[in-house]
Amino acid sequence: MTIAANIQSIEDQLPAHTKLIAVTKTKPVALLQEAYDAGCRRFGENKVQEMTEKQPLLPADIEWHLIGHLQTNKVKYMASFVSLIHSVDSLKVLQEINKQAARHQRVIDCLLQIHIAQEETKFGFDETEAEALLNGPELDQLPNVRIVGLMGMATNTDDETQIRREFRSLKQLYDRLGNIQRPNVAFTELSMGMSSDYLIAIEEGSTMVRVGSAIFGTRN
Ligand SMILES: *Cc1c(COP(=O)(O)O)cnc(C)c1O
Repeated sequence: MTIAANIQSIEDQLPAHTKLIAVTKTKPVALLQEAYDAGCRRFGENKVQEMTEKQPLLPADIEWHLIGHLQTNKVKYMASFVSLIHSVDSLKVLQEINKQAARHQRVIDCLLQIHIAQEETKFGFDETEAEALLNGPELDQLPNVRIVGLMGMATNTDDETQIRREFRSLKQLYDRLGNIQRPNVAFTELSMGMSSDYLIAIEEGSTMVRVGSAIFGTRN
């Protein structure tokens, strides 16, 4: 299948409220251009350096999404153009995003990454930490960030019941925390689902699926 055909078949399965983020990490710009020509306007990269190298080589109307772990010292390189940061996993990085966004006189949209998988990973808030941040006083000092929702990755398993359970609990958290009323909190996006599990994620209420290999083929 071609990239265009892959994109089309995924798009055909998405409900109207769910957006496709084409995950382009490790792929050369020629393939990103191919996806662009097929209609894709939202690209996700997991490394800041790779994203900042590709961005000037491609059309300006692309939305760039950072989906991988973010180090504070890298925020400045993408602060002028990044569209949405899916992977905010600490107050410290959020403070740095705010600082760099202010330098560019803009507000950067962010998602809090929630640790929902059974696997041990270093990254992501647990539910209590996310709730504390969204209710805490620190956000008042961060007018140049807006938290627009949550992101999560399910366990890498063939057990669909487990994947569904994890997505469902993230959706419940999203619905609960989405009631919080603050100037820089406005939940509209729930980023969940990748190539292997996006159909389950859609059924559980995802508004953004991050799909790489199902569009571009496997990565080496
Ligand atoms: C690589 C990656 C994806 C896409 O994975 P595929 O299995 O290729 O669809 C989605 N989300 C994150 C955070 C990733 O790092």
